[in-house]
Amino acid sequence: MRPNRHTLIAGRHNYEVIWDRMLADGSIPMPGPGMIAFCGIKHDDWCSIFNNGLCDCAPEIDAGEPINPEDLSALPEP
Ligand SMILES: [Zn+2]
Repeated sequence: MRPNRHTLIAGRHNYEVIWDRMLADGSIPMPGPGMIAFCGIKHDDWCSIFNNGLCDCAPEIDAGEPINPEDLSALPEP
């Protein structure tokens, strides 16, 4: 479901709501204990988050595979 310009749930950023759904349906990996994961969230230019508001766009969320913090060679490029 793509949100429109309104928040999906009052008081929450759209990216949080979408993130939670993606974790729940397995479309992004859940890091296990002791693991870390990096993610990128790309907001639309008009998103209210850029004006101290709640995210109300349909952000692109890209999450990498969880990595073991002891294996720094697996860190993604910035
Ligand atoms: Zn946004």
